[in-house]
Amino acid sequence: MLSRQEISGILRNKDKGKARSLFAEADRLRRQYTGDDVHLRGIIEFSNHCRQDCLYCGLRRSNKNLIRYRMPPKEILSVSKSARRADIRTVVLQSGEDPQYNIGEFCGLIGKIKKLDVAVTVCIGECSYADYRRLKEAGADRYLLKFETSDAVLYKKFRPGNTLSRRLECLAWLKKLKFQVGSGIMVGLPGQTFESIAGDILIFEKLGLDMIGIGPFIPHPDTPLAGSKRIDLGTVLKVVAITRMVTGNAHIPATTAVGSIDAVGREKALQAGANVVMPDLTPARYRRYYDIYPGKICVGEDAEECLPCLYRRIQSIGRRVSVTRGDSLKL
Ligand code: SF4
Repeated sequence: MLSRQEISGILRNKDKGKARSLFAEADRLRRQYTGDDVHLRGIIEFSNHCRQDCLYCGLRRSNKNLIRYRMPPKEILSVSKSARRADIRTVVLQSGEDPQYNIGEFCGLIGKIKKLDVAVTVCIGECSYADYRRLKEAGADRYLLKFETSDAVLYKKFRPGNTLSRRLECLAWLKKLKFQVGSGIMVGLPGQTFESIAGDILIFEKLGLDMIGIGPFIPHPDTPLAGSKRIDLGTVLKVVAITRMVTGNAHIPATTAVGSIDAVGREKALQAGANVVMPDLTPARYRRYYDIYPGKICVGEDAEECLPCLYRRIQSIGRRVSVTRGDSLKL
């Protein structure tokens, strides 16, 4: 197991040859642990309302420039049915922390989606233990809750009114309730150090996460972090690669954010340790309003246009699209 010092040393090293060797080793381990299949997780961004005010996020409540929407449950179900017809076996129900979220109605929707024989991932932020339990009882298989940074001071600064300890408590509850748990971080947050990213990677392993998402911080013009420095793709890929080396068989997505800072960023991430892609299934008329960060790819396209493109990209690097649910390999 790599130490914190060794990980931060790798991240700091600018040698391109060493980076290529690192990606090759992570790719070898990815093949050994997860094979050549790429699992698809279809995301439905069903509401962009949020009661939180995270400094890095375009959905923050203080952003008055954003047009807000909430998809009706019927429409979410209809998109889920289309996903199943397209052989996507995981539906990710994602939203901001919507103040009008109704747990009973949402659980009813999960029950209907589960009848389609797909895995359901929920990503709606921090809830009470009782609500998490209701979601599990309704049939949700997985929960995604990124902690973004394990630096408690930065966390508090970027997520006003929230604490890292509460986030970690939520992750512990989700584990206790036997969800397959996904988390992750942003790389390149202002003030974040290589040491703190090294700490994040070691926490991934300590938490025994089933899935780990790593995305670049992309400054949003309608947030207090507008104009902050952008991170380079190479550093993000190194974090992906080291995460593969440290966590073994965790599922690691080539995130949409990585594809948004480089035209072939997702392909590069898939060759640096990643084994999952998360196509956006949100109907095109809502997509541009799920404006977490600027420059997000595919915002003008419907799933019918996105999926063939994604398939071609995956096949272009010699990989296969999985038609299984792609459950946790840690179970
Ligand atoms: S990061 Fe999540 S919780 Fe924070 S403002 Fe954005 S959507 Fe809301």
